[in-house]
Amino acid sequence: MGHHVHVRLSQGLSVSADGELIEHSRCRCGATFTKVFDAEDGKPEDGARG
Ligand SMILES: [Zn+2]
Repeated sequence: MGHHVHVRLSQGLSVSADGELIEHSRCRCGATFTKVFDAEDGKPEDGARG
Protein backbone atom coordinates (compact mmCIF):
# COMPACT_ATOMS: atom_id res chain seq x y z
CA MET A 1 0.00 0.00 0.00
CA GLY A 2 1.11 3.55 -0.38
CA HIS A 3 0.89 6.57 -2.50
CA HIS A 4 -1.04 6.22 -5.68
CA VAL A 5 -2.61 8.37 -8.29
CA HIS A 6 -6.22 8.98 -7.39
CA VAL A 7 -8.80 7.97 -9.92
CA ARG A 8 -11.64 10.45 -9.87
CA LEU A 9 -14.88 8.59 -10.48
CA SER A 10 -17.72 10.99 -11.01
CA GLN A 11 -20.40 10.79 -8.32
CA GLY A 12 -22.70 13.40 -9.73
CA LEU A 13 -23.23 17.10 -9.97
CA SER A 14 -24.79 19.73 -7.76
CA VAL A 15 -25.24 23.47 -7.77
CA SER A 16 -24.04 25.70 -4.94
CA ALA A 17 -25.96 28.57 -3.43
CA ASP A 18 -23.82 30.86 -5.56
CA GLY A 19 -24.94 29.14 -8.72
CA GLU A 20 -21.67 27.32 -9.30
CA LEU A 21 -21.75 23.85 -10.78
CA ILE A 22 -19.98 21.38 -8.50
CA GLU A 23 -18.80 17.98 -9.66
CA HIS A 24 -18.32 15.39 -6.94
CA SER A 25 -15.80 12.63 -7.53
CA ARG A 26 -14.42 9.78 -5.51
CA CYS A 27 -11.46 7.45 -5.72
CA ARG A 28 -11.78 3.77 -4.86
CA CYS A 29 -9.34 4.40 -1.97
CA GLY A 30 -11.98 6.55 -0.31
CA ALA A 31 -10.63 9.98 -1.16
CA THR A 32 -13.21 12.46 -2.33
CA PHE A 33 -12.89 15.45 -4.60
CA THR A 34 -14.95 18.36 -5.74
CA LYS A 35 -14.44 20.42 -8.83
CA VAL A 36 -16.14 23.77 -9.11
CA PHE A 37 -17.14 25.18 -12.43
CA ASP A 38 -17.64 28.91 -12.36
CA ALA A 39 -20.99 29.69 -13.91
CA GLU A 40 -19.64 33.03 -15.11
CA ASP A 41 -16.91 31.86 -17.46
CA GLY A 42 -17.47 28.12 -17.53
CA LYS A 43 -13.84 27.26 -16.91
CA PRO A 44 -12.94 24.58 -14.37
CA GLU A 45 -11.37 25.77 -11.14
CA ASP A 46 -9.04 23.10 -9.86
CA GLY A 47 -6.89 24.85 -7.31
CA ALA A 48 -4.16 26.23 -9.51
CA ARG A 49 -4.48 28.81 -12.20
CA GLY A 50 -2.05 29.30 -14.85
ZN1 LIG B 1 -7.03 7.20 -4.38
